[in-house]
Amino acid sequence: MPKVTVARVARANKRDEATTSTVFTFGGTDTPAWIKHSSTIPELKTNRGDIFVLPALFLAMRRGEDLELSDAVSAELIDNIDTVQDIYVTWFPEVFTKVTVSAPASQRNRALRSARGGSGMAFTGGIDSMFSLITSRTTPTALVNSTGLDLDLARDAVARETRARLGRIAAVTGTSVVPLSTNLRKIVLANDIRWGEHSFAAVIASFGHLLAGTMDTFVIPASHSYLTAIPWGSNPLVDPLYGSDRLRVVHHGAAFNRARKTEAIAHHELTRTEMRVCLKITTDENCGECRKCLRTMLALDVMGALSNSERFPQTLDFALLKKLPAHHPQEITMMHDVRELAVEHGAAQRYLDAIDDLCIQWRNELDGVSLESAPDQDPGGTASRIRAQDP
Ligand SMILES: [Zn+2]
Repeated sequence: MPKVTVARVARANKRDEATTSTVFTFGGTDTPAWIKHSSTIPELKTNRGDIFVLPALFLAMRRGEDLELSDAVSAELIDNIDTVQDIYVTWFPEVFTKVTVSAPASQRNRALRSARGGSGMAFTGGIDSMFSLITSRTTPTALVNSTGLDLDLARDAVARETRARLGRIAAVTGTSVVPLSTNLRKIVLANDIRWGEHSFAAVIASFGHLLAGTMDTFVIPASHSYLTAIPWGSNPLVDPLYGSDRLRVVHHGAAFNRARKTEAIAHHELTRTEMRVCLKITTDENCGECRKCLRTMLALDVMGALSNSERFPQTLDFALLKKLPAHHPQEITMMHDVRELAVEHGAAQRYLDAIDDLCIQWRNELDGVSLESAPDQDPGGTASRIRAQDP
C-alpha cells in the first residue's frame, strides 16, 4: 500500500539561523520540508512529530494514503487528528479521504520552563491579526510571522519592510517578533491542496508546535465570524484541535465579522500608521486598488478614519470599487457587513448605493461562474497571492 511518510525531524544550526526540517516521502519522491528560525528557539526534546504532522496529514488525506511518522506525536494531537479528518472529509468529500496515522508511542511532553506563560500569535498586521492583538486580554509574548506564506520567499526587500513594520508594532505593544520562513505552503499548493480553503491554519499551527519550547498558547486570528464560519482552512471548529497537551491553539476573534473588527480598531493609532491588508505581494504598502484595500478603505471611511490614514490613499475612489470582479459569495456577505456599518454610522446615501450596485454586479457575475471552476474558492485571491490569516 502506498503511504506518506515523514522522516525524523532534524535541526541544523548555522550561526544565528537554524533550520528544523524533515522529508515527506510519497509517490516515489522525497520532498524536503523546512522551517527556518532563530537559533535561540529551543529544540523540542519530545514528540517532535508534532511539528510537521499537520501539513503531512493534508498531503495524506489528499492522496488517500496512510500517514506514517518517524517521530512521536503528542497523544492529544493524534486523538484530535481523528476529528480534524472527520471534519475535512465531511466538508470536502471529493477532495479528502480519511487515512490512518501512525507514529511511535507518544512521549510524555516535557514542557520547557521557558514555555510557561509564553504565548504566540500568528501575525501579519492585517485586520484580523491587528484586531486580535489590540483586543486580546493579554498581549502575546511573540508575534509570529513567516515568509513563504503571504510573503514570497524570493522577495527579500518586501520581507524586510514587513519585518520592520511588524517590529514597530511589537515595540508599541510591548511584545516581540519571531520571524520564520518555510516552504510548507509551496508543498501543499504543489500537491493540489488549497491554501485558504483547506490548509493554512494547519501550516500556521506547525509554527506553534515548533515554538512550543517558548510558549504554551498559540493564537490564530479568525478569518470569519461564528455566524458565517464556512468550510475553510482556519475555523473555530478545527483550529483548537490543532493543539496538544503542550500547546493550546486558540482561534481568536470569531465573535466579530471583518467590518466589526474594522469598526473596533478604526481609530487605533496602529491602524492609522501600520495596517496592511493588500493582496499585492510586490510591496509592503497598500495599493489602494485591490478589493481588500478598497473594502477596508470603505469601512474606514464610514468610520471617519480614512482621511488621516498614513497607510491608504486618503480618499475613496468609487469608480475603482465598481471595477472589482466577484470571486466568492463570501465577498458579498462581507460587503453587506460593511453596509450595515455604514447605515449605523450614518454614511451618505452614495456609500450605500455603491455597495448595493457592487453586490448586484457580483451576484450576477457569480451566477455565471461555477465555484468548481473558480481559480480558488478564496475571498483572498488566487492561489499564488492568498494571504495567510487575512483572506
Ligand atoms: Zn491592495
